[in-house]
Amino acid sequence: MGIQENLTEVRNKIQQAALKSGRNYEDVTLVAVSKTVDIEAVRTAYSLGIRDFGENRVQELRKKQAALPEARWHMIGRLQTNKVKDVVGQAALIHSLDRWNLAEELDRRASLVGVTVPVLLQVNISGEEQKAGFDPGELDNFFASADQLQAVKILGFMTMAPLSYEAEKARPIFKELNHLYRLYSRKTYPNTQLQYLSMGMSQDFEVAIEEGANLVRIGTAIFGG
Ligand SMILES: *Cc1c(COP(=O)(O)O)cnc(C)c1O
Repeated sequence: MGIQENLTEVRNKIQQAALKSGRNYEDVTLVAVSKTVDIEAVRTAYSLGIRDFGENRVQELRKKQAALPEARWHMIGRLQTNKVKDVVGQAALIHSLDRWNLAEELDRRASLVGVTVPVLLQVNISGEEQKAGFDPGELDNFFASADQLQAVKILGFMTMAPLSYEAEKARPIFKELNHLYRLYSRKTYPNTQLQYLSMGMSQDFEVAIEEGANLVRIGTAIFGG
């Protein structure tokens, strides 16, 4: 199947899952993860109405962004501190803020060039050791320190289920992140306006949406591979 047929199917599934959770298709933003495909495939998706693309490497993001600047480019992968200067002011949203010193570096760089950096906190719900992200128990501390940030804007949470999990097995993980999202949304923190819940990939996006995701990051179900 081609990108057009894949997209039709993905969009239908998004709509059905959104309805199941009492929402509409428009309430869920589809980020097409283009990390494994070339700019031609990106252009095809853009011509079919996709406006948000996700990349997990800064260099690749910048390259594709230069070719298609009218799209919104999301940084979804692990961000090294020495790449921060290349992504600040460029990425529409960084989904993968996973440690305090990265927040500090983003803040420092963004302040230098006078921009703000919208970010999501990546949370490691599954507790896999090799997985990036804050432990849920570290979030209190993070928000308690958020007043030290000036240019970083915290807009939500992101998580990934273990790659080996089937969709239903991932459900408790998505439920838990939604729980944290609602918990922290009840309070007011500096530089924080929680509005995005980024969860769900090709293998599990329907379950993630049923559990409240409003940003899904989908690669292979759109582009194949
Ligand atoms: C690659 C990637 C995705 C998309 O994965 P698919 O299984 O291809 O849909 C989503 N999120 C992150 C963080 C990724 O690295």
